[in-house]
Amino acid sequence: MSGIYIHIPFCKQACHYCDFHFSTSMGKKEAMVVALQKELFLRKEEFKDEVVETIYFGGGTPSVLETEEIQSIIDSVYEYYSVSEHPEITLEANPDDLSTEKIISLSNSPINRLSIGIQSFFEEDLKLMNRAHDASEAENCIKEATTYFDNISIDLIYGVPDMTNERWKKNIDKALSFGIPHISSYALTVEPQTALASFIKKGLVKNVDDEVAQAHFHILSETLEAAGFESYEISNFGKPGYFSRNNTAYWQQKKYLGIGPSAHSYDGVRRGWNINNNPKYLKSIEKGELPMETETLSVTDTYNEYVMTGLRTIWGVSLSRIASDFGQKYHEYALMQAEKHLKDELLHIDGDTLLTTKKGRFLADGLASDLFMVNLG
Ligand code: SF4
Repeated sequence: MSGIYIHIPFCKQACHYCDFHFSTSMGKKEAMVVALQKELFLRKEEFKDEVVETIYFGGGTPSVLETEEIQSIIDSVYEYYSVSEHPEITLEANPDDLSTEKIISLSNSPINRLSIGIQSFFEEDLKLMNRAHDASEAENCIKEATTYFDNISIDLIYGVPDMTNERWKKNIDKALSFGIPHISSYALTVEPQTALASFIKKGLVKNVDDEVAQAHFHILSETLEAAGFESYEISNFGKPGYFSRNNTAYWQQKKYLGIGPSAHSYDGVRRGWNINNNPKYLKSIEKGELPMETETLSVTDTYNEYVMTGLRTIWGVSLSRIASDFGQKYHEYALMQAEKHLKDELLHIDGDTLLTTKKGRFLADGLASDLFMVNLG
């Protein structure tokens, strides 16, 4: 099982909180589509023994591409790679791109899953985030999308300054009213070098508050679980049969190829990352050179990543796998570090599996970091 991630590095405008790689200048869009196809060709040997189960268009904003451009990239995947019979093919899309016409043309393409960047149904939140869409576009695009797609996920952001618990609950209820089967939801984080960080520093916007975010997370979990969603990862909630196959494979350390500027790859041993600069990426690919750096993960790196991703998911961390894949000293260390959190009921052990409790879920990243190993090869 393996996947291909394709990064589309363009956005109509910069959201105030975002530190992903994108350009707001669309001048090189066509050249980028050609370059992405060429990178797929250049890297086909890396996946010669793999069957591609998932294809994921992320960004940036993949929905700024015309459907024909998306189709031509998918055609290249099929030309150079072996693709399973029923792959999951996801497109991240923003509401302002999803006209009825676009939704219909996408539904006639191989795309079979839409991940829509709603973030909020409230105008004040969307303005603060500097999203390119407004509240009515958010609602209308979901109504239209559910007519043509069954497998839809939406993104929602909580912990936004001035977002009350009531407004957050209304956001979730609104999302549920459309009958969509998957929601990804993240706490607003203040990344350095973003407009949001600068507004907070100047006192123009209130800072985010961990306690508010935690309260929002509990409202989210309770509301979605009561509505039949399973919290299969700390930020991802799906109805049975609708968990993201792409993300699940990623959390389970499956191989993936990352195509496009800033995209990351993993082959089971090494991580690679492409240059996060569009002109340099284009130039390099034009010359037939991969603009990629790689690092071989040490046993400790791989253990730490396994603990980090495992504790965020319902699959948890297998203690016997720690012993067999990383060695007895890692197994003993993990149990020793987990002891306090087991007593505090933030972690629990079910058979062979170490998991967060309901109480510990929101704290998964901090709990994982307590189990991280340092200074061992
Ligand atoms: S649309 Fe997405 S990638 Fe683009 S700036 Fe906004 S959050 Fe970042």
